[in-house]
Amino acid sequence: MLHPADTPADRTIPAHDPATLAPLGEAPIMGPDEVRAAVGRARAAQHAWAKTTFRQRRAVMRTLMDRILDEHEAICRAAVRDSGKTMVDAALGEVFPVLEKIRYVLAHGERDLRPEKRASGILAQKGARVEFHPLGVVGVICPWNFPFHNLLCPTVPALFAGNGVVAKVSEHTSWSAAPYLALLREALTTHGHSPELVQVVTGYGATGSALVTSGADKIFFTGSPQNGRKVMEAASQGPTDVVLELGGKDPMIVCDDADLDHAVEQAMLGVFTACGQMCVGVERIYVFDAVYDEFVRRVTAGAKKLRQGPPLGAETVDCGAMTMPRQLDIIEELLADATSKGARVLVGGARAEHLGGQFFPPTVLVDVDHSMRIVHEEQFGPVMSILRVSGEEEALRLANDSAYGLGSSVFTKDRRRGDRMAAKLRTGMTVINDYGIAYMIQSLPFGGVGISGIGRINGREGLRACTNTKAVVTDRLPLGKGVSVYPIQPTTYGLVRAVCGVVYGNGVRGRVKHVADAARLFAREVRSRRAGT
Ligand code: NAD
Repeated sequence: MLHPADTPADRTIPAHDPATLAPLGEAPIMGPDEVRAAVGRARAAQHAWAKTTFRQRRAVMRTLMDRILDEHEAICRAAVRDSGKTMVDAALGEVFPVLEKIRYVLAHGERDLRPEKRASGILAQKGARVEFHPLGVVGVICPWNFPFHNLLCPTVPALFAGNGVVAKVSEHTSWSAAPYLALLREALTTHGHSPELVQVVTGYGATGSALVTSGADKIFFTGSPQNGRKVMEAASQGPTDVVLELGGKDPMIVCDDADLDHAVEQAMLGVFTACGQMCVGVERIYVFDAVYDEFVRRVTAGAKKLRQGPPLGAETVDCGAMTMPRQLDIIEELLADATSKGARVLVGGARAEHLGGQFFPPTVLVDVDHSMRIVHEEQFGPVMSILRVSGEEEALRLANDSAYGLGSSVFTKDRRRGDRMAAKLRTGMTVINDYGIAYMIQSLPFGGVGISGIGRINGREGLRACTNTKAVVTDRLPLGKGVSVYPIQPTTYGLVRAVCGVVYGNGVRGRVKHVADAARLFAREVRSRRAGT
């Protein structure tokens, strides 16, 4: 896919290592025709794939898992070079969740997608069930923050549900897509299936837009809210169904009864993992007054100890680089706005130019309030914004004062308080006494409310989102003819009304009074129909 000799230079995207700025190569900018051709190839391969059994699909997934374990280091190194994160960030954020997702579909995928009986209500003579059929070709549009994970995580359930996949990888991390695609295809060919089932297309936003209108049967878009809106608008032409996994502005609430050591550790993890370039990164920390000073003291001491530099250099580092050059400008703008309104930087605060690459240091910002842009706009960087709150009510009010609603967390030793606060947080996920682990529990649906998105990935909901959820009605009793009201008789309306009374009347007394009417009208209806025939 990468470095094709016949692609002119003005039709390629240059790739570089964000930590060293070393060039990595180029990827072609694909136009609508190339995207449609990729969808066509995936569709042709999908016809045979749709007929495979779950057992056959599990064999492919098992091989994929084995190959990921074999290639663990190579996968992480490619993600590190393409996105600037550390090997540990890659191991935890790229590979671990993908393995856990594959384990989930191996263990539970068939159960989730098996036909499911439903009650047939008043139509007792009928059987009712839901079947989960493949959609056809699923389009996946990826951001840059976790190049391996962003490609594999929607692709695994889509394939398991019987679909083909065309993925548009990010223009900032196209370089690593070729080896990742090769792993997927190898797992397919090992079991005699067509490698064309999975396609990767490269380019900028226009290529993603072309995928949305390419005839793909559903789009899984992960990216910013601005582009999510554009995707939805373009998809409305089909209309094509979309799942939008957009950004987050996740709040963490640290109550006065929290285990402070644990809360500090989780805050560091939530803010500084992958330098904060995570949709579920902790972007706002609300700390109760009683523990605020101690919390700030501990995170400040912790942040000062973090080491930063090229992740594949000689030194072990805790924090890598920022993948997207523009993100450094965004963080600086948000910090400038916050400090101009009274916030104070206790650690970091300015780009680390001496390191050569695209580095922004771990930063601790205090005296933050809701007049500041950094509280409302995704900073997607290693900035820990800390806000002081008087208690539960203020913490919840401020945490919910956001257009986003992806994840959230509450730290307290009081279970009832944790449950109570979780129920009041307007987000798609809440974790009590931990950060971000809702994603590692693959049986749980993942997604947000507000501008954080529409629809869910992961779990049963995510697998079924890759299907045509089809209602099927069958005969339970061989009664032959169904109910017909045509041609309408003078008694027909009265009969329908009386039947409603019999079925839906309030209690026995409410129903009984309609029985005589129903019987009388039914008899007249039968007579007049006989007379009419
Ligand atoms: P982005 O919206 O700039 O780009 C995402 C992808 O969409 C890229 O491949 C891009 O080329 C493509 N694209 C751009 N314009 C398009 C259009 N009009 N039609 C179709 N495709 C288009 O996002 P990004 O900067 O790559 O990623 C960062 C964003 O992603 C952040 O907001 C982050 O929170 C979000 N994100 C969300 C999740 C989640 O699961 N909720 C996960 C990771 C990242």
